[in-house]
Amino acid sequence: MNKPLIIANWKCNPASLQEAKKLFNSVKKGIGRIKKAEVVICPPFIFIPSLKANGAQDSFWENEGPFTGEISPTMLKKSGVEYVILGHSERRKYLKETDEMINKKVKAVLSAGLKPVLCIAELTQLKKSLKGISEKVIIAYEPIFAIGTGKPCSIEKAGKMRKMINQKMVLYGGSVNSENAQDYIKKAGFQGLLVGSASLKADEFIKIVKKSAFS
Ligand code: PEP
Repeated sequence: MNKPLIIANWKCNPASLQEAKKLFNSVKKGIGRIKKAEVVICPPFIFIPSLKANGAQDSFWENEGPFTGEISPTMLKKSGVEYVILGHSERRKYLKETDEMINKKVKAVLSAGLKPVLCIAELTQLKKSLKGISEKVIIAYEPIFAIGTGKPCSIEKAGKMRKMINQKMVLYGGSVNSENAQDYIKKAGFQGLLVGSASLKADEFIKIVKKSAFS
């Protein structure tokens, strides 16, 4: 088995670069000696260069041009980013992102040599978002009811869903904490985790990484 992939999604937090540096450095220090897990931190775009972060929370589908407010795959690549979360349910809900838009983003991110992490809550989203794509894409199964609610999906239900997602690399996301982290990997068969709220608490996130990093 490959090393579990643990991705921190900081969402629209924290408010300042000073706080971002504090959190980032605490996490880095805490996971420094853990070799049996791969860790990706996805801060807001504005903090990526200063932190030298390896993950981003979104990308636009064009590389340059008249697209006010957008950040391109090339910009992310040149900033040292490796992994890009796409199709997060909060973007689908608040910014009305559709599977068609997400499909264009996955293609653009792959073309730039980045690794997309495609978030889905249902199998239909998987099919539509991957239309015409044959390359390897990391999937994050994130049931809506579990995101940011403190009500994680049961290991049984998550395990069933894992079996139905016909992809090599599938992460679980939704109210992950240090108590349930290992079960999603060991019992439900996921290859890693996408962690939201708990990734903003350095100690808790370090514990999640430690629990996930079993041989
Ligand atoms: C997420 O935003 O991807 C997520 C899983 O959030 P949380 O861990 O807070 O449920």
